[in-house]
Formats: sequence, C-alpha cells, structure tokens
Amino acid sequence: MSMPSKWEIAQFWEQGRNRDEFAPHLSLVEPCCFACGWFSECWEEKTPRARWRRARLERAHIVPRSLGGPDTADNLLLLCRPCHEDSPDWADPRQMARWIATRAERPSKEVETFQAWFAAASEAPEFRDAVASVATEQNAQERVMDLLQGLMAQAGTHFAVGTSPGTRVAVLRTAAERIRSWDKHGMSDG
Ligand SMILES: [Zn+2]
Repeated sequence: MSMPSKWEIAQFWEQGRNRDEFAPHLSLVEPCCFACGWFSECWEEKTPRARWRRARLERAHIVPRSLGGPDTADNLLLLCRPCHEDSPDWADPRQMARWIATRAERPSKEVETFQAWFAAASEAPEFRDAVASVATEQNAQERVMDLLQGLMAQAGTHFAVGTSPGTRVAVLRTAAERIRSWDKHGMSDG
C-alpha cells in the first residue's frame, strides 16, 4: 500500500474529529506545518492540491512505523523539518497530541527573513543613520533598495544556511559607507 499524498492527508485532517489536537493550524488554502503553523510558500501554484504537493512539509507518523503505526492518513501528519525532527516517536498517540499542544508557533519564511534583517540593522546602526540622512532626497528609497540588492548579489552564501547573520551586517555596513558617499543634492540626476 502506498502512502497517502500530502493533499490527501490535509483533506483527511480538515474533516478529522481530532483535528484540534493534531492539526490545530491546518487551513486547506495555505499549506502549513500542523504543529507550529509555519507557512510553506508555493504561491505560484494555482490549486490547493498543487500547493500542498509542492509544500516543504514532511509526512510524519503519529505512531512510528517501527512501533506498528500504519501508513494511513489518520496516522500521518504534515510537519516542517524542525518539528519532524523534534517530534516524539512513541506508541501512545496522546504523547504526540500533548507535544503539539505545547509546540511554539513559528512565523512564515518572509517574517523570519524580515526579523533577520531587523536584527542585522541593530548591529549596524550606521546604516539607519545613513538612510535617515538621505530620507528627504528624491528617489532615496529606490536608490537604497537598488544598492542593497546589488550588494546582496555580491555576497557569498554558507552551504545549507543561505545568507548568514554576519553577511547581513556586512551588507548594511557597506551600504552605509556608499550612501554617505552619495552627492546629496545630485541624487535625482544620477
Ligand atoms: Zn513546524
């Protein structure tokens, strides 16, 4: 017997009697981790079925296969990677429900990225000051965004981590130096 698809699992829990215990964050429209609510983005897909198929969520057994748990929708949840790794492998399903009930919510990828940049900005206060010094100039916002995008394109990435916290700080500090070198009153000419 083959495992049910992610979409089939989502549909099962949408109507499931124990939905509140095992899938408190479930919404069929937007694929998300049942345990922490993390949104997996696949917005280019038109139908919910296609979004769930491509969602970066893993099928996780409530009762593990090694302890006799079946590959059926009522024994499978959709979890993000960190939740799947932390979840209990235990024969009593109530332990999974209790674990989900106390699992902290995790924001979406976009919010995590925003928070990472916000943290970097507190490490590079000169960037905020430089932006403030040009705030009243024409096209300042577009020029700052172009500058940041250009610097990000020059940054390296850590394997499997993407942009590291130190890289974000370096980008903001470099941007601050560049903004300070702008000719303040010739901005709209460039
Ligand atoms: Zn999760």
